[in-house]
Amino acid sequence: MSVAEARELDRADPLAPIRARFAIPRDGAGRDLVYFCGNSLGLQPTAAADAVDREMRVWRELAVAGHFRGPQPWVRYEEPLRENMAQLIGAHADEVAIMNALTVNLHLLLASFYRPSGRRTKIVIEAHAFPSDRYAVAGQARWHGLDPDETIVELAAERGTPEEALEELLSTRGDEVALVLLPGIQYATGTRYDEFEVVNAARRAGCMVGLDLAHAAGNVPVRLHESQCDFAVWCTYKYLCGGPGSTGGAFVHRRHHGSDVVRLAGWFGNAESTRFEMRAQQDPAAGAGAWVVSNPAVLSTAPLAASLAIFAEVGMEKIREKSVRLTGFLESLINQELGESVRIVTPDEPRRRGAQLSLQVRGGRDQGRRVFAALENAGVIGDWREPDFIRLAPSPLYNTYSECVRCVEAMQQAL
Ligand SMILES: *Cc1c(COP(=O)(O)O)cnc(C)c1O
Repeated sequence: MSVAEARELDRADPLAPIRARFAIPRDGAGRDLVYFCGNSLGLQPTAAADAVDREMRVWRELAVAGHFRGPQPWVRYEEPLRENMAQLIGAHADEVAIMNALTVNLHLLLASFYRPSGRRTKIVIEAHAFPSDRYAVAGQARWHGLDPDETIVELAAERGTPEEALEELLSTRGDEVALVLLPGIQYATGTRYDEFEVVNAARRAGCMVGLDLAHAAGNVPVRLHESQCDFAVWCTYKYLCGGPGSTGGAFVHRRHHGSDVVRLAGWFGNAESTRFEMRAQQDPAAGAGAWVVSNPAVLSTAPLAASLAIFAEVGMEKIREKSVRLTGFLESLINQELGESVRIVTPDEPRRRGAQLSLQVRGGRDQGRRVFAALENAGVIGDWREPDFIRLAPSPLYNTYSECVRCVEAMQQAL
C-alpha cells in the first residue's frame, strides 16, 4: 500500500503542525491511536485544560464577582465566541447564540418556528433521522395536540439526491407542510445536503426551514445567512472539539430579529443593559440573543473557546481543503484495497459529503462487526452505527494520511 505516498503527503501538509495542538489518545503500549471518531467527540485541544482552569481560579478567588470581573466576565462569557462561530457557519455574529445543548436549542427554536395552523401542520424530516431530532419533533407535535404519526413526513431519497426528493415532495404536498427540518450532513450516511437547495425548495412552498448542523459545523463551510434559512442548531463536541456536553449553538436569521414571534423566554434573553433591573416585562436582547434563556454554562464553554481559537487561526477554507484531500485519500485506499468487500455508502463527490465515510461490509452485519472489532484491536477508533455502518471520519486538524494507511491495512487483515 502507498505508505511512501502517505508520508510524502504528510510532509507536504500545511496543517501538519496543528496536530500538536490536540491531545492524541494512546493505547496501553503508549502508541498513538488512530482517532477517526471526531464526528462523535472531537479531540481535546491542549489549551482547553488551561481555559477551564482559568475559570476555576476565578471562581476560587473572586467567587460571585467573577460574573462581572476577571479576564472574561461570566455574564457575557460566550459573547466573544460568537464572531468565530458565526464565521464557521456563514452567519452574522448577531444571528448566533451559544447556549444549552443541541436538542434543547431545537426545542426552543421549534417553539418559535413550528407554528402549525389550518392545513399547514406537517414537519418534514429525513428518513432515519437522528433519534433525538425525531423525538423532539414528535414531542412538539404532541405539544400542539397533533398526532406525531400524521404530522411527521419522512423524506426518503430512494433515487436521486435528497434535495430532488424534497422538491418533489413539496411540489405535491407543500401546502400541508409547516416546517422542513433537515441535516447539514446526515449522521449515518455522511451525505451533505445543500443548504441553498433545501431552503429554496422550502421557501418556495411557503414553509419554515430549520437545519441541524450537528455533523456540518466545523466540518464543511456552511452559508446560513445567505441561504435565507430561518433557524439552525448544532452541537460543539463533534467536529468543533468543545468537549463532552459542551455548549451548543443556535442561529436565527436576521429577518426574525425583533419580530413578535413567540419565544420561550428567560432572563438572559433580556438586554444586558437592563437585565439586572429585574423588570416584570422582558426587554429582549438584540438578535439571536433574545432566544437565550439561562446564564452561560461557563465550564462547558471554556474548552470551546480554546477550540474555536484554533478554527479562527487556521480558517475554515484551509481546513476544508485538507479535509477533501484526506477523506479522498482514505476513500481511494478503501476502493483500491478493499473494493471487493467494502461498500462506501457516502457519496463520492466531495461537495456532497464532509470528512466522514460510512462503510458497509459485504457479507452482512456480523462480518461488519468483525471488521469493526479488528479496527479497534489495531488501535483505530471509528464508530459503529446500527444497522450495519462503520463510520470513519479523518479530521483535517489532527489526522494524517499515514493514519489512513494504518486504518485500511487493519481492515485488509480482518478481511
Ligand atoms: C449528535 C447529534 C445530536 C445530539 O444532541 P444533544 O442534544 O447534543 O445530545 C442530535 N442530533 C443530531 C443530528 C446529532 O448528530
